[in-house]
Amino acid sequence: MEASPKQPGVEDSLRAAAKTARAPTFGNPDQPPQGAINAEGNPASLTDPGPRNPAIGGQFPSAQSPPATDVGDMPMFWASFNNAPKRIQDGGWARQVTQFDFAIAEEISGVNMRLTAGGIREMHWHLAAEWGFVSYGACRVTVLDEKGRAYVADVKEGDIWYFPAGLPHSLQGLGPDGCEFLLCFDDGKATEYNTLLVTDWFAHTPPDILAANFGVPADTFSKIPLNQLYIFQGKEPGALAADQAAVKGAMGFPPQPFTFSLGASAPARQTRGGEVRVADSGNFHVSKTIAAALVTIRPGGVREMHWHPNGDEWQYWVKGKGRMTVFNTGPKAVTMDFNPGDIGYVKRANGHYVQNIGDTDLQFIEVFRSSYFADVSLSDWLTHTPPAMVAQHLNVDEETIAKFPNNEPVVMPE
Ligand code: MN
Ligand code: MN
Repeated sequence: MEASPKQPGVEDSLRAAAKTARAPTFGNPDQPPQGAINAEGNPASLTDPGPRNPAIGGQFPSAQSPPATDVGDMPMFWASFNNAPKRIQDGGWARQVTQFDFAIAEEISGVNMRLTAGGIREMHWHLAAEWGFVSYGACRVTVLDEKGRAYVADVKEGDIWYFPAGLPHSLQGLGPDGCEFLLCFDDGKATEYNTLLVTDWFAHTPPDILAANFGVPADTFSKIPLNQLYIFQGKEPGALAADQAAVKGAMGFPPQPFTFSLGASAPARQTRGGEVRVADSGNFHVSKTIAAALVTIRPGGVREMHWHPNGDEWQYWVKGKGRMTVFNTGPKAVTMDFNPGDIGYVKRANGHYVQNIGDTDLQFIEVFRSSYFADVSLSDWLTHTPPAMVAQHLNVDEETIAKFPNNEPVVMPE
């Protein structure tokens, strides 16, 4: 059935490929001889008899029928939480995409988690630093710093947190319906299922040591869980102020908050095409190893051609429909399609741009293993290089080059 050339999906792909074949290009698609534009002799070059899965294939028009300027191959830079297996427990679930699943993602790994109202991600700590972004609902976070100063805060949709490597913390969903969030670790190999859990340590410490350590009788611990809780259904917490008062010790509170309202912050840049909000150690002081940008692109807008000098870019696609092309030496250029829940990755210094190809706002997050956000705009470079120099490279006259954006709009049109 799937292999029949009469399948509508096959006809669609043929039409799409034929359209791509006719698409204008100023590239040199004949060297190397790659791309639908070269398939002029036999139209069957554009067909896709199968086997195929139209539901999955239909999500990737740019892979099925690449732009005429694309030339592969490149390490896969698309991944997704949508097909990542969930670990479901009473109280919520977690799923993750690490470098073990996504070879290119060396600097960052990602976790997607849901906690019910009252659902608890067990008290724990780990080797990597953790950066979180709330995509739904509300959550109470707790963390203790290395000077014994405790922090408790409630975060809601659009808020972020940062827990430095090794600091112990917990997460709990709040009413009415808990939360869903993204976690990033500043190490592509870090895994959510390999964290140090408070229950595991208790269960693997002799009762007499527990008694000596805590200064209470050993039978105090006769009912501790013998298996880790990881995620479990708890009682919804009371008022935030009460929790904050309860944790305050002699050392007081940490001097800087471990949470930040990224979604509600003033845009770093706003144009007709969209806006970008940035959180790094400059405004979210504790975030020493993660910098992030929340990018919104209006329909038809483009996140301008650019690259990042200071780190790989790990992306979480939040809303809308996007398409990204990545450029590297070779030359290589590969285009992929992105939907909500997908993950993208761009190696340091590789050129890229993002288009909103849907009819609603496109939103995605750029995450970097760096203390600061930095990018280099192609247009900025071309308008801040002697015009005669640029004109000789592009065969474009200097008057026209002077019309290029010269103040890094981030999202076009200006
Ligand atoms: Mn954690
Ligand atoms: Mn970028």
